[in-house]
Amino acid sequence: MRSIRVWARLLGLRGAVIEDVTVNDAGDGVEVVVAVRPGWRERDRCGICGRRSGRFDRGGGRRRWRGLDLGTSFCWIEADAPRVRCSRHGVVVARVPWARHDSGFTRAFEDQVAWLAVNCSKSAVAQLMRCSWRSVGRIVERVCNEQRLKVDLLSGLRSIGIDEISHRRGQRYLTVVVDHHTGRLVWAAPGRDRATVLVFFATLGEERCKEIESVSCDMAGWISSAVAEAVPQAERCVDPFHVVQLASDALDEVRRELWREARREKNLTLAKDLKGARFCVWKNPENLTDKQQAKLAVIQKLNGPLYRAYLLKEQLRQIYRADSPEEAEALLDGWLCWARRCRLPAFTKLARTIKAQRDGILAAVRLGLSNARVEQINTQIRLITRRAYGFHSAAALIALAMLTLSGLCPPLPDRVK
Ligand SMILES: [Zn+2]
Repeated sequence: MRSIRVWARLLGLRGAVIEDVTVNDAGDGVEVVVAVRPGWRERDRCGICGRRSGRFDRGGGRRRWRGLDLGTSFCWIEADAPRVRCSRHGVVVARVPWARHDSGFTRAFEDQVAWLAVNCSKSAVAQLMRCSWRSVGRIVERVCNEQRLKVDLLSGLRSIGIDEISHRRGQRYLTVVVDHHTGRLVWAAPGRDRATVLVFFATLGEERCKEIESVSCDMAGWISSAVAEAVPQAERCVDPFHVVQLASDALDEVRRELWREARREKNLTLAKDLKGARFCVWKNPENLTDKQQAKLAVIQKLNGPLYRAYLLKEQLRQIYRADSPEEAEALLDGWLCWARRCRLPAFTKLARTIKAQRDGILAAVRLGLSNARVEQINTQIRLITRRAYGFHSAAALIALAMLTLSGLCPPLPDRVK
């Protein structure tokens, strides 16, 4: 093989002709600069749509793209970057086969960064690839946009979940849509209001809206009203995750109220016990350590109201373990009865909310909406929003979430998925 062809193979440059390879001293090492030009088939195409177009001018002259490192050295691809006049997009920089439009990195470099961003820690990606986390954000956005054109995530949707995720302090939210059958994230957009949910249904289209059989969501009115308007035939379910969450919140309110009372009465031992009780009343009983179980027994003995609140939370969880929808219904009604009379304001208030949502809660049980799956996706999205901190925009965060949770992540360069 001639050395120039060896280079083309090594660098994975398809559709390009290598003109020259030079090795320069750079800082404490060397850098490899590969001068190329697009093959004749790839020349003079619009950078956006790829349509063959007339040459406009030389553009910015020579340009460099960062490629995957060669061994320990930086590698740059260098070429002319002329502009063409596309009939649709006007004057744009011509497409090059080795890089995405508007990028200073090669395609292989970007695919590898995207793969790493999905699979490794933030600092591992930035250090290994020697680029900033901000650049990683732009790269995942470009890769995700391209992948989304290839895969139609919205086809075949029957049962979906709609939820909101806060992604920054200061009340910034995303609305996310999950496919319950595949467990995939299928859509996300900034905002949390009726209009955002309606944009999703508009994107889905009228025909596919008719196919939707069930929609799960929390108890927020802005989602349910949009759902009722866009997919009136679909059964609305209340996410088990949110129901249990509300019960945990009510329990915590009871505990805090008792703690404040104990402090007012200068009963410091009880106050300390209540503070320490937080984790054992929060945790699911099957996950308690021996020590926490002992603590729970003490609570049962010493503090009636807190133990009652604990049992109320646990019984509400039980409706999702019922053997049949009928049993769940009976359990839920029993729970409502008890909660109304329990003399714990947080739970009587919760009972009113639950009663208003009774149909939606039972629909979730009947349709077998698994709490574990909804909760798992929620947790994963939250982790991703935390990792995406430092990205320049919500779009980059959404892109990272889609690459990770929608099955859109490209394989490593030159490997088959
Ligand atoms: Zn074009």
